[in-house]
Amino acid sequence: MLAFIASVSLPNQKTDRREGLSSSTRERLKPLESRLIETVRAENCRREHRIFTAKPHMAGSARNYELAQYVAEQWRKYGLEDVQLIEHPVYLPWPVRYEATLVDSREKLSLKEEPIPEDPDSYSNEVGIPYCAYSADVDITAPVVYVNSGNPEDYDLLQKQGVDVRGKIALARYSVPYSYRGFKALTAQKRGASALLLYSDPAEDGFKKGAVYPAGPWGPESHLQRGGIVYDFNLPGDPRTPGWASVPGGRFLPAETAVSMPTIAAAPMSYKDARKLLSMMTGPTAPQKWQGGLPLQYRLGPTSDKLHLVIENDKKVRSIWNVVGRLRGTERPDEWVVLGNHRDAWVFGGVDPSSGSATMMETARAFGELKRSGWKPRRTLIFASWDAEEFTLTGSTEWGELEADKLKAGALAYLNVDSSASGNNFTAAAVPSLANFLREVARDVPDPSGGSIYDLWASRNKSDTPVTTRLGSGSDYTVFLNFLGVPIADLTFDGPYGVYHSIYDSFAWIDRVGDPGYRYHAAMSRYWAVAALRLAECDYVPLDYDAYAREVKIYLDETERAGRDRKMAIDFQAALSAVERWQKNARVVLEAARKAAESGDSKQAEHAHHALMKVERALLDEEGLAGRPWFKHLIYAPRPTYKAMVLPALTEAIEAGDEARARKEVDRLTRALNRAAAVLQP
Ligand SMILES: [Zn+2]
Repeated sequence: MLAFIASVSLPNQKTDRREGLSSSTRERLKPLESRLIETVRAENCRREHRIFTAKPHMAGSARNYELAQYVAEQWRKYGLEDVQLIEHPVYLPWPVRYEATLVDSREKLSLKEEPIPEDPDSYSNEVGIPYCAYSADVDITAPVVYVNSGNPEDYDLLQKQGVDVRGKIALARYSVPYSYRGFKALTAQKRGASALLLYSDPAEDGFKKGAVYPAGPWGPESHLQRGGIVYDFNLPGDPRTPGWASVPGGRFLPAETAVSMPTIAAAPMSYKDARKLLSMMTGPTAPQKWQGGLPLQYRLGPTSDKLHLVIENDKKVRSIWNVVGRLRGTERPDEWVVLGNHRDAWVFGGVDPSSGSATMMETARAFGELKRSGWKPRRTLIFASWDAEEFTLTGSTEWGELEADKLKAGALAYLNVDSSASGNNFTAAAVPSLANFLREVARDVPDPSGGSIYDLWASRNKSDTPVTTRLGSGSDYTVFLNFLGVPIADLTFDGPYGVYHSIYDSFAWIDRVGDPGYRYHAAMSRYWAVAALRLAECDYVPLDYDAYAREVKIYLDETERAGRDRKMAIDFQAALSAVERWQKNARVVLEAARKAAESGDSKQAEHAHHALMKVERALLDEEGLAGRPWFKHLIYAPRPTYKAMVLPALTEAIEAGDEARARKEVDRLTRALNRAAAVLQP
């Protein structure tokens, strides 16, 4: 027991320091961390995983409500406090009809995933109609055109080749690198297609990548990828409540007018079905890069036969349920460390998100055990099981809006785990200020294959700090970062995974292929727990704004170059000076915090702590971004592809070729950077 308390070698200041912790706090935490690490059990993760994946549990379903109750009940048993189910009535359409019939042959496409004997859950009769959430309705008969990845440049090429997509059905493949399906919908909508079919080509996630499930991790012939196409890069959360929470009896706008609502219809398809359409394409041969993994000549189209396509959704408001529980802080109850994972799945959610849900249960249980041993956190730990992430990051967004004031006043960080393990490859995305902290935690948590998580992570990525700091969107951290200015981290172990959002993303997929033995589920639970413990107990919040400022300087350089390339005269000098000042102040404050903590000057350490907590908030601007005021962060925003856009307000102005606006935006950015520097004024 308490294995690593024994190694009391004299610390080398540089490598042995753990930011935020004085050496005495660190010594005090070591046995607690060991205890968390030892308490977490892989077999518990497996047992929890089986419970979450037993049935389909889409947002709004009775089963997902049942699971919310289950989570709450368990958390209470573990010893969490103030455990609550929080109801949000939100616009949450479900599918009613999805049919695709070839007109001449009268052949109906199957639009169905085949069960496989190795995965008994795949025989479930509770799997709903596959669909793209927030699709418009359509009932049309039209030829189909192949649009490759469905990006703007793909439509440009079609136009050059004389293939008209207007009024036709566009058939796009999911793409690698990943591009959000909502962007494909927006592009198809802009180009005048009458509907969009999204299919998984075997070159992306099927047999061209390797053995397909159940023999391997890749997608079998009939797998299809459900998912939202909502324009949540404009506005996440309930489209009826932009910027405030959806609560029973609250104020609601009509959903149809929201900037997040598509006007095009879209639906997912397997390569088994898409193959029929692709083999009927006429017209020019598609370019080499457009040729996919199916054994046929990909052509641009249109198809020789027309397709009768019917997509219909109900337009219902449904209740979703977040579960929130906490361990109240004894000294600083209003300072929060938030751990979140979404519970709702498109079907069984083997990886996405039930691997994370199982991990969250085990993490909560481990903290409960620690509490039972007499420990109580200095600050409040909040555990959140979000609902309806798959729709439009709905549950986390509504809760973030509901608790905005408290979060802005007192949140240290939000630690998100969506899928915890589809393989053994540790991956972390975070604001630059948390990168060093994440690295330090990784040094102290064992990797199931030996050594620390850090050892493998660093060597695999050939980097000392392989944290992705350019933050886009795609999971529940968005409201915390972009709306509230709370530092975020997003953690996962990933690996080859070709069954995303299909019925094969299941218990058996994880148990047989993705993480047999649940060792990486447990590793993530340990990592998450140690990170949360350190934040709850730290002497000052371990946010490194020296690193953040350094990174923003790089963004400024890139953006200045982009402006110059467009022959724009934008003066970056004031922005650069502000960053320099910010960086200088950050160094001074962090050094002062270290000294104060080390010498036991808790008043000084507190002072630094409170300054550090305000910096991320200072990077918000209440006006938000042009056309999407919900997004208030001036350093990061998602592009419609979900890829990161840095210095988004300024970058958008430059990309739009609007020099006057770019000048205004560089001023606005400078003011934010000055605010960040000012809160760290020594
Ligand atoms: Zn997810």
